[in-house]
Amino acid sequence: MILHRQIIYGPILSRRLGLSLGLNIIIYKICSFDCLYCERGRTILHKNDINTEISSGFPTAAEITDALKYFAKNSINSRLNFQQGRILDNITFSGNGEPTLHPDFDFIAEQVIKIRDKYLPDTKVTILSNSSTAMNPIIQKALSKLDTRIMKLDAGNEETFQKYNIPLRGVIQTDEITLKDITDGLKNLKDIIIQSLFTKGISGNYNRDNVTDWIEKIKLIKPLEVQIYTLDRAAASEDIEILELSELEEIKNLLDAEGIKSEIYY
Ligand code: SF4
Repeated sequence: MILHRQIIYGPILSRRLGLSLGLNIIIYKICSFDCLYCERGRTILHKNDINTEISSGFPTAAEITDALKYFAKNSINSRLNFQQGRILDNITFSGNGEPTLHPDFDFIAEQVIKIRDKYLPDTKVTILSNSSTAMNPIIQKALSKLDTRIMKLDAGNEETFQKYNIPLRGVIQTDEITLKDITDGLKNLKDIIIQSLFTKGISGNYNRDNVTDWIEKIKLIKPLEVQIYTLDRAAASEDIEILELSELEEIKNLLDAEGIKSEIYY
């Protein structure tokens, strides 16, 4: 299991994000999902009776902005020296769980943008989100301020969603999370990128029914682009397996046939 210990990590050279500075706003793994493929291990902080522990799992907004400011101030004169002469492409909300679960996410997003504007104006502010809060108007407003929204959608039907992403009650949100609510929320967000991780095996989401239903959801959401990929490291479950490149290409062909832009990351 890999957990980030710091608020700031990297910059790292990422397949999808170029040179990206990670912004981890959760101290240990706190998530509204328990995806079978999660590289952070299984989600255990999800019960209402450990809410005290959950509330201590978020750095304060001041701690987060101070850490980013410190990095930005110290790198402003050496931006061309991050790695092989590249400038920083993205400051990316990602890390030990779902960033939008932070109770001050809206305020933090605003502050991060201000720091970026002042010190790193050529860098985008991006989020990798599991979409579980996409139906929340406050989160929708906060997400709309960012440059790039990369939102998860692995399942095309409720059955796959419940078994593959395993949404959990009691992680900040107490209502049941359904795929329908998520799809409705994603439809309301402008200019999003969908990210989808496919696997096979007895619990994988790569099967005809799920892929067919998933394409229908993508058509409703109308994203700018879909990023499709498979496992590239150990998963939390042994019941899922990596896809062949040719299988990802089959999914891409289906998206192509619908006129939906997509990219394979393999
Ligand atoms: S949404 Fe992300 S952090 Fe949460 S369980 Fe799934 S893969 Fe892990």
